[in-house]
Amino acid sequence: MVESQAPRIRTKAKHDVLRITAMIQVKQERSHLPTAEHSALIDLDRALPSGAVVTDPDVCAAYARDESEAEPRLPDAVVRARSTEDVVAVMRVATRHRVPVTPRAAGTGRSGGAVPTEGGWVLAFERFDAIDEVSTRDAVAVVRPGAVLGDVHAAVEAEGLFYPPDPNSWASCTIGGNVAENAGGPRAFKYGVTRDWVLGLEVVLADGRVLNVGRRTTKGVTGYDLTALVVGSEGTLALVTRATLGLMPRPEVVRTLAVHLEDEAAMADAVSACLRARVTPRCVEVMDSITLGLLREAGVPVPAGSRAMLIVEVDGETDAADRDLERVGNALLDEGTLEVLVAKHEGDREQLWSARREMSRSLRTLAVNKLSEDVVVPRSALAALLGRCRAISERRGVRMPAYGHAGDGNLHVNFLWDTPDEKPSVDLAIRDLFEATVQLGGTLSGEHGIGALKAPYLALEQSSDLIAVQRSIKATLDPLSILNPGKIFPRAGHGGC
Ligand SMILES: Cc1cc2nc3c(=O)[nH]c(=O)nc-3n(C[C@H](O)[C@H](O)[C@H](O)COP(=O)(O)OP(=O)(O)OC[C@H]3O[C@@H](n4cnc5c(N)ncnc54)[C@H](O)[C@@H]3O)c2cc1C
Repeated sequence: MVESQAPRIRTKAKHDVLRITAMIQVKQERSHLPTAEHSALIDLDRALPSGAVVTDPDVCAAYARDESEAEPRLPDAVVRARSTEDVVAVMRVATRHRVPVTPRAAGTGRSGGAVPTEGGWVLAFERFDAIDEVSTRDAVAVVRPGAVLGDVHAAVEAEGLFYPPDPNSWASCTIGGNVAENAGGPRAFKYGVTRDWVLGLEVVLADGRVLNVGRRTTKGVTGYDLTALVVGSEGTLALVTRATLGLMPRPEVVRTLAVHLEDEAAMADAVSACLRARVTPRCVEVMDSITLGLLREAGVPVPAGSRAMLIVEVDGETDAADRDLERVGNALLDEGTLEVLVAKHEGDREQLWSARREMSRSLRTLAVNKLSEDVVVPRSALAALLGRCRAISERRGVRMPAYGHAGDGNLHVNFLWDTPDEKPSVDLAIRDLFEATVQLGGTLSGEHGIGALKAPYLALEQSSDLIAVQRSIKATLDPLSILNPGKIFPRAGHGGC
């Protein structure tokens, strides 16, 4: 294929001569690929600007996994898109050759969503990262998918505005990944999750058509809400190439409390105590006794006897935030907590949060393997869920530290193990956890998505009719099933569907 086309290309401009050299390199590196894949790669390279398509296995290896335990898989190629036109070009070639395309942003996902489990190409958005606009008059930001969330926060806050979603990975995760996962974060308790702040999207469909869904206005009910459908669809329905985000005035101050409890089961009561005090904290984060040990190691002063800790924050205008802090602090003391500590300086606050943000990575130091689930139950069932976790841990002999967003009933339950022979017990413990969650009226994922890892369990929560309806939506938008295949839906043999 390369040989037959080379003479024609060599008659073109000088940069095309360089392109054909690159193609021959593609051939050499990918000589193991069957002819069909090989010719698709040549078409892809021809359709994209020079240098956008990478087939070097060392580079591709960096795109084979995300921040989950999903089995890595080397893509045939990585395309580093810089524009909507690039994305359209990729999808047109992919459709023509029926090549699977896995979108990828920063790769911080926890469910294997960005892993090219079916092979094909990874479409990387990290270089498509402009912040096009921050409008103070309309209170919107218009950003491209590869924009890092922390940069978006900084840009809007510089204008006195605020974009609330704040997954703890904000320093590296991107808007594209946040939209695809409907990411939440500590501030979700008061301000909601990504879907609540996305007004409109430009998306590219699997066949390369570009749609503008949603709007720039705060209100608008024209047609079906396809924006809400795309948010949280994990890159399986459409590719996000631009997002219009709603903004609000930046709260004047933030006040922070650390609350220590003698008993893990008291967590849910502590959250209710805040609400009874007629305050909606902007976040209520929780850490169990094992994760508290890690906090101690990180230098956070944790009183002896503390079996669980909450981080509670309120925000707003200075007077209102101070009043809310007092109300919440008193309500928590009345609830019988061990100790309530107020962060006096920004340094105290930062120490708490940096330890909390690093919690996942710190837990990794406790065992050779770690897998993190992010189940959610109604807040009233939080204590029951923790009790069930302890029982499962004992029954299956698996260590299961937990922390998370207590205000939302969203617990990150971690499974730690060292040797391969422990893995079957871990798998049983995970299934036990999901079954307990569903029995308690909860859901399998609060923010990390179903991805590749939780797909086998979808039928534990959703009926076969519900799964079939979702599959038909997928088939309408992506009839060849080339957009992030192998994600969300169980394969044959997973049971239930
Ligand atoms: C330490 C740590 C803390 C975390 N804390 C939180 C937390 O508090 N809350 C939370 O919600 N998550 C959290 N996460 C998970 C993760 O950061 C989020 O899921 C985040 O939204 C992923 O963004 P990303 O840019 O890394 O996307 P990636 O991991 O690259 O991709 C995630 C998904 O989005 C799809 N995708 C990427 N770009 C596009 C696009 N342009 N169009 C369509 N689909 C696309 C991918 O195919 C994949 O399915 C945490 C992760 C880590 C490592």
